[in-house]
Amino acid sequence: MKSLDEIAQALQGFDPQALSVDKAQEFIQHLVQALPAIASEELPLMQALGRIVAEDIISPINVPAHDNSAMDGFAFDGKQLGTAPLQLRLVGTALAGKAWQGNVKSGECVKIMTGAVMPEGLDTVIAQELTTLKAADGETVVEVPAGILQAGDNRRKAGEDLQRGLPALMAGSTLTPAALGLVASLGIAKVKVYRQLRVAYFSTGDEVLSLGDALREGAVYDSNRYTVFGLLSRMGCAVIDMGVVRDDPVLLEDAFKQAASSADVIITSGGVSVGEADFTKAMMKKLGDVAFWKIAMRPGRPMAVGRLGNSILFGLPGNPVAVMVTFLAFVKPALLHLMGGTPSTTPYLRAKSAVALRKKPGRTEYQRGFVRTLPDGTLQVEAAGNQGSGVLRSMVEANGLIVLHHHQSNVAAGDEVDVMMFEGAI
Ligand code: AMP
Ligand code: MG
Repeated sequence: MKSLDEIAQALQGFDPQALSVDKAQEFIQHLVQALPAIASEELPLMQALGRIVAEDIISPINVPAHDNSAMDGFAFDGKQLGTAPLQLRLVGTALAGKAWQGNVKSGECVKIMTGAVMPEGLDTVIAQELTTLKAADGETVVEVPAGILQAGDNRRKAGEDLQRGLPALMAGSTLTPAALGLVASLGIAKVKVYRQLRVAYFSTGDEVLSLGDALREGAVYDSNRYTVFGLLSRMGCAVIDMGVVRDDPVLLEDAFKQAASSADVIITSGGVSVGEADFTKAMMKKLGDVAFWKIAMRPGRPMAVGRLGNSILFGLPGNPVAVMVTFLAFVKPALLHLMGGTPSTTPYLRAKSAVALRKKPGRTEYQRGFVRTLPDGTLQVEAAGNQGSGVLRSMVEANGLIVLHHHQSNVAAGDEVDVMMFEGAI
């Protein structure tokens, strides 16, 4: 496995003191790509929600299994359709789950329900409400108007959803609610998924209080523990919650060692900025192969990345918004890779900025924003009030992050900008 120095040397223009977001992401990708895939397990479908599929799921059947009707109506052979209305003698009924047996000749039709198997030789269905029924000699005749149907209409073909022998879901995909339903439609009750990624988290800093502690001057309650817990849980990780670790070398060493022995990934917050008087950085250096970066971004900037034993370590900044932004920009894609997932392809949304935004070229800025659809259909994004890196309130009120890229400069009101929508992530 390559050392951190070797990874850095392989990246052109890599400067740990002024690192672009792109380069940092590239570095992290190299770091996590070297690791072996995690183990898999078999789970009943409902327990697998949110998990990542470990091997292609091949469809054992055609879905639907038979040609069937897409609506309630009358089934007939579409070859008879022409310029004149059709008069079809009704010879029976096909119900969903109970196929019509027998021959349907030319000039005849079968009443059919949605989902019912198409009788042999029939390929077209007319909706009930488009027909006229007439009684003649104790029989019912269905009139099909001319010019409104083509042969094959309103029939679902066998295998049009999923074909037997072909992959229905690829390894690396997430079992979303839709995917669970898809797997169930194949009759498959258990799926092979990757085991949950174990992620240990602790906050550092002597000013950080646990909930339940009495508030004292200069101290803050530990919010990072809760945001990181939420972010990790939303991703489906198994969170090893280690609370706050005091700024004491013995306690920190203990915490790091315990985390490394039980977790695939260790995340900490606080204690990685320049001029920190605490022991966090020193302990990371002592116990692992860790790089300390200054990233050209806002909020964010200081971050530690490396290996500690067999675990990957992310030392995030202390500021609550910086923690969330660095998590979304760097940690989340890395975790997804380690979980066995294919990279997310959620595109940025393009929205018009409601106001002018100041932006210095040479760093990436993430501004909390709120996207709305204007009455004329335009997407507009408004930057949230206070963009301070400690202000969680604007994070709560935002529905996405405006991403002002490295080389971008000031944005005029009405200019389009990229927005990373939060969706279910935060
Ligand atoms: P640091 O990165 O340690 O310099 O911390 C930067 C700022 O984030 C300081 O104002 C800290 O008080 C604050 N901070 C650090 N850790 C936490 C935490 N776990 N919860 C809330 N705020 C924190
Ligand atoms: Mg600190």
